[in-house]
Amino acid sequence: NRERIMQSERLNVVSELAASVSHEMRNPLTVTSGFLQLLNLSKTLTPEEKGYIELSLLELNRAEKIISDYLSFAKPQSENRVYSNLQAECEYTKNVIMPYATIHKVAVEFSFSNTLCTHYDRNQMQQCLINLYKNAIEAMQGRDDGVLSIEITESKPNIVITIRDTGIGMTKEEISRLGKPYYSTKEEGTGLGMLMVYNAINKVKGRIEVRSEKGKGTTFKIIIPT
Ligand code: ADP
Ligand code: MG
Repeated sequence: NRERIMQSERLNVVSELAASVSHEMRNPLTVTSGFLQLLNLSKTLTPEEKGYIELSLLELNRAEKIISDYLSFAKPQSENRVYSNLQAECEYTKNVIMPYATIHKVAVEFSFSNTLCTHYDRNQMQQCLINLYKNAIEAMQGRDDGVLSIEITESKPNIVITIRDTGIGMTKEEISRLGKPYYSTKEEGTGLGMLMVYNAINKVKGRIEVRSEKGKGTTFKIIIPT
């Protein structure tokens, strides 16, 4: 038990450190990428030099992606704890992913009915929800009848968030690998989204149930005690 506690403290330190580092990396990445884009406009570049610049921009873009999966919302050091019912976070994050859903031709259904409150970190819950919504939308890529359904209810004494998609689905084996660092089946995936989700739900002492059928879709049920 003592080892478990130490392990979870270690994880906390690691994830806080990751958050600070990523946060600090954002500015240099943006500046570098901006200057490379300027350089790329130069008329005197050889095709080879242009190739180097474009490769660098792609790599910077990838670094940016890793950071945004891990903490587009997390602001390290500024703990943002609230005692609330998640409504503000659910609505805010739904609005944030609407454009992403629209370009992927995914319809979004949303319903909220919950009065229970609990303690949580606002930024972390937002990041967690966004990662789950993004995965759901990406699982429905390439079809134009995808539906992402988000439902927040309560089942006393728990708050229950259900996120359902009609996408590619997962096998049992694939489900068991969710949350392992760098596990991704996507060409440009980071494999960090679900790691962040599991970390965030652990922190509120919640649990995640996954139900999925290959070719039919996936349901994530997040159960958070109050
Ligand atoms: P990434 O999205 O960068 O691949 P994640 O950690 O967010 O990394 O997800 C890891 C993997 O879990 C994905 O590559 C995908 O194979 C699988 N996955 C997650 N959510 C879903 C989903 N809703 N439907 C199908 N597969 C999913
Ligand atoms: Mg993801």
